[in-house]
Amino acid sequence: MASNVNSRPEPAEEPGDGPVESALDTARRQLTRAAAGTDIDPNIVERLRHPTHVHRVTVPLKRDDGSVEVFTGYRAQHDSVRGPYKGGLRYHPGVTEEECIGLSMWMTWKCAVMDIPFGGAKGGLVVNPKRLSDSERERLTRRFAQELRDTVGPNSDIPAPDMGTDSQTMAWFMDAYSMQEGETQPGVVTGKPPVVGGSFGREEAPGRSVALVTREACDYYDFGLDGTTVAVQGFGSVGANAARLLDEWGATVVAVSDVNGAAYDPDGIETAAVPSHEEEPEAVTRYADDCISNEDLLTLDVDVLVPAAVGNALTGANADDVRASLVVEGANGPTTASADAILAERDVPVIPDILANAGGVTVSYFEWLQDINRRQWSLERVNDELEAGMLDAWNDVREEVEDRDVTWRDAAYVVALSRIGEAHRVRGLWP
Ligand code: NAD
Repeated sequence: MASNVNSRPEPAEEPGDGPVESALDTARRQLTRAAAGTDIDPNIVERLRHPTHVHRVTVPLKRDDGSVEVFTGYRAQHDSVRGPYKGGLRYHPGVTEEECIGLSMWMTWKCAVMDIPFGGAKGGLVVNPKRLSDSERERLTRRFAQELRDTVGPNSDIPAPDMGTDSQTMAWFMDAYSMQEGETQPGVVTGKPPVVGGSFGREEAPGRSVALVTREACDYYDFGLDGTTVAVQGFGSVGANAARLLDEWGATVVAVSDVNGAAYDPDGIETAAVPSHEEEPEAVTRYADDCISNEDLLTLDVDVLVPAAVGNALTGANADDVRASLVVEGANGPTTASADAILAERDVPVIPDILANAGGVTVSYFEWLQDINRRQWSLERVNDELEAGMLDAWNDVREEVEDRDVTWRDAAYVVALSRIGEAHRVRGLWP
């Protein structure tokens, strides 16, 4: 069996050393790298380099002033060998077809590493939602749902919230889809409010999984959580939930940040008292006695660093200065390929996003199960099953790390790709 996953990742070009790699380039490079570490048929790998479908739609919106604006939307569906497509819908001016394809590939790997019976998708509208009123966002979402009606469905493709969309967006989407179907179909999207089929614990789930994986990783590296120092970049849905749980479980959270900067206290921050992005946007530094910059947070001398804000936070320019003993990725893609290579060389373990923040898609799967069974689970059951699923995935990835002596990222990709490759092999290629 070939195993060049052992080698140091190729440094990618990025700020400081050239142009940033696109999400699609990254996804394809990671696929090639992971495939080399498995005995998956190269013909299956070739299939996985391409999305199954990419839908492009135009969505007209009557603005509040009576004028009509037309927006472009996409839905990329990467692979459905293990089940229906699953992935977010984002509203952002930077949405592109290529980005949707790359992110849909990541969703395929994320579902497979968690052993969830879904494939990967991603979509969105090229729009700045902050420019729209609430009623404009509602009309736009309903029309987008109509344009995607033949593409999505509870058994075919199940969207979820992403950047610029939220539980209200999903409620409008579900309502518009259901109106045309003539029956309520809560399973067409996840991330809805619990009163219309959403799951308890969905919002906290990505942060909870980051905290669970951090706890397991600390245990694995023999420093336990008690008194372990943690710095968390980003105090939004992922970062705030992760930081507060780690604080509750005995860790000392010394820094948390938002886009304006970081609150810092070497004796530990009372994370419950710091307003999260949802509770009071960008207010982390407003109540802090001592503030440092986001760049300084990333290089604090702590046990664990959790980048949970944006992509490309750790780059070739700052990875050498990271002093944490362990990095747990809360955000999607916070570590560039060059940073990954530097951290690997320095023996700083990086627990990858497709494992660490996969609690979101896992509880989305629980939500879908609750919807199709018309039976809501208690928060306790959701959290128990999430913990069990995260521990299974953690152990599967840990075994690959130990057996192959590879990085956590490579091990996670090998786990995911092995499952997808085997599913393709036994199903075969039709006709
Ligand atoms: P959010 O909008 O709730 O919070 C983002 C936080 O990051 C805010 O505190 C914001 O002020 C801060 N921030 C923004 N830009 C920053 C910058 N340049 N430097 C430092 N801080 C900055 O977002 P979220 O839902 O917590 O998502 C964060 C990351 O996690 C994203 O990469 C997202 O794709 C990923 N993620 C989110 C979910 C989810 O369900 N929410 C699931 C998996 C992964």
